[in-house]
Amino acid sequence: MIEELGQIVAEQQLSRQDLVRILSCGADQAPLLKEAANQVMRRHVGDLVYYRGIIEFSNICTMDCCYCGIRRSNVLDVPRYRLSREQITETAIWCADQGYGSVVLQSGERQDEEFIAFTESVIRTIKQRTVSDRLPAGLGITLGIGQQSPQTYERLYRAGAHRYLLRIETTDEELFGRIHPPAQTLSSRIACLQSLREIGYQVGTGVMIGIPGQTLEMLADDIAFFAEQDIDMIGMGPYIVHPDSAMAELGMMERGPLLQLSLNMIAAVRLALKDVNIAATTALQAIAPDGREQGLSYGANVTMPNLTPVEVRKGYQLYAGKPCLEESSQDCSTCLLRRIQSLGRDVGFDQWGDSPHAAAAGRIPGQQES
Ligand code: SF4
Repeated sequence: MIEELGQIVAEQQLSRQDLVRILSCGADQAPLLKEAANQVMRRHVGDLVYYRGIIEFSNICTMDCCYCGIRRSNVLDVPRYRLSREQITETAIWCADQGYGSVVLQSGERQDEEFIAFTESVIRTIKQRTVSDRLPAGLGITLGIGQQSPQTYERLYRAGAHRYLLRIETTDEELFGRIHPPAQTLSSRIACLQSLREIGYQVGTGVMIGIPGQTLEMLADDIAFFAEQDIDMIGMGPYIVHPDSAMAELGMMERGPLLQLSLNMIAAVRLALKDVNIAATTALQAIAPDGREQGLSYGANVTMPNLTPVEVRKGYQLYAGKPCLEESSQDCSTCLLRRIQSLGRDVGFDQWGDSPHAAAAGRIPGQQES
């Protein structure tokens, strides 16, 4: 078995069958898989870890994803919030002062003009106020505000955002249909990813791992989709059931196998896509205290310290058991640095940390109009 895996990971092009084989690895094969993923990571993206300080600036959402704790229909248990321009800007400046280099602005999905104009002006303000000798073009800004029109994406790109995260969650049409209401379709989400690419964003996507009814073959097909769509950044997390979601009664995988599958998926993406950025997401830490470090040790090179003000952080729980709800941004920063250094790796401070994949494709940041 170990020899067979060694042969597979040494191949340049991984077939669907190879990917399924990698995804089915058990703990006994973990050392070989980790070593292979790390070798590819060091060769193609280096071994620095890049921070993306994440600001969840509003939990108001017009969508109704069945797995989500803050979906529109969940009206009883979620106090809704929106951060002010000053709160977001001050947090972003703190992020730049810490040397993080990049920020992620994330919120529930809204398409109304008030929200889009607000987001646009926040992006411009952050860009203006974070220029320094250390960051001559200001903070790198990644947006994650869901499906929008091409015109909106264009507008926000021109304001200064240069990366966009839009998770596809699964590329299996039938499974996608089971975890979303009929109004939300796989084809419209793919169209958004293509629109983002055409505008010039560095595009990120990802899937949930361990959705009830999901197979290893589906996950292998998700990886093929990332390659076909020329994706620059990947953010994936284990599916963790939220007790107030519409999928609560379906349960979830046991945590041990779910963690291993999630780590195998990170390694498989690294081996298949090589030069993209891959995040060790917070959801990994929700199923294992050292989940994020484990994600980094399987080939991930990005992590996202939560900078959302503590007083509203509990209001942004897409899944149950989200960690670090009480810790201050400074506590999170100190803790995360210690965790990364315990792996023998360093943080790429004062850098945007764009993926070599994006750079090779000419998606060079800092060239959009301001
Ligand atoms: S997953 Fe995102 S878009 Fe879907 S309901 Fe939750 S916050 Fe809204």
